[in-house]
Amino acid sequence: MANIFSALQDIVFLSQQDLERKICLQKNISITFRGKLDPYTSLSAQIVSMKQVHGIDVLSADAPNFKTNECGDALYTCRSSLPIAVRTADCIPILLFSQNVVMAIHAGWRGLCAGIIKESVKKVNLTVSSVSELTAVIGPTLCAKHFEVGTDVVSAFFSDGLTLSKEERYFCLSRGVGDKFHLDLSLAASLELVRLGLKPAHILVSTDCTYCEKSTWYSYRRDKTAEHANYSIIERVL
Ligand SMILES: [Zn+2]
Repeated sequence: MANIFSALQDIVFLSQQDLERKICLQKNISITFRGKLDPYTSLSAQIVSMKQVHGIDVLSADAPNFKTNECGDALYTCRSSLPIAVRTADCIPILLFSQNVVMAIHAGWRGLCAGIIKESVKKVNLTVSSVSELTAVIGPTLCAKHFEVGTDVVSAFFSDGLTLSKEERYFCLSRGVGDKFHLDLSLAASLELVRLGLKPAHILVSTDCTYCEKSTWYSYRRDKTAEHANYSIIERVL
């Protein structure tokens, strides 16, 4: 997939190991993508996460009654030293941040089409003066070649949950064999973020495909088990 929004300056890859990508885009923000973790035991206790349900509920980890593993698909915090994470196995992990807030979004095709990105940006917008302050990092997901879909997904992709124009939606789709299509999830998420007010130069897209990069990432489509998951973790550090 073409990395069309890679204009961010000063990207520092802190580590580029086999199962980890750690990048620094801003001094007080820590971003880590880790592949092939055990989905139940690998996260340290201090990392908060959600019970992801492919919906559009956005949770604040700062809410007084918030408990880790509550049902939701986007989670944010304005606190420092509170790492938040989403678990994916082909779905799109999106990490958003400004100086004051960090957010982790789990967007599979269902959540994407239902409007999880729109709901997330709407919520996080309450903590910033302008959406244009936000930076987004889209982590490893399926490339378009490996995301073959049927007409059910294509129909959902044209629903009102997304703010994309009809032309933009066509741009994310290509014809497959027979009645199949290929959907470029990262491109769709990037264009949606731009539609919602993020600057294109503030959107960084990983070119790693979870299916193609077998040694680094877990892919449900490829491996067909629930033994592993990939984690995307973001934290405000002091
Ligand atoms: Zn691929």
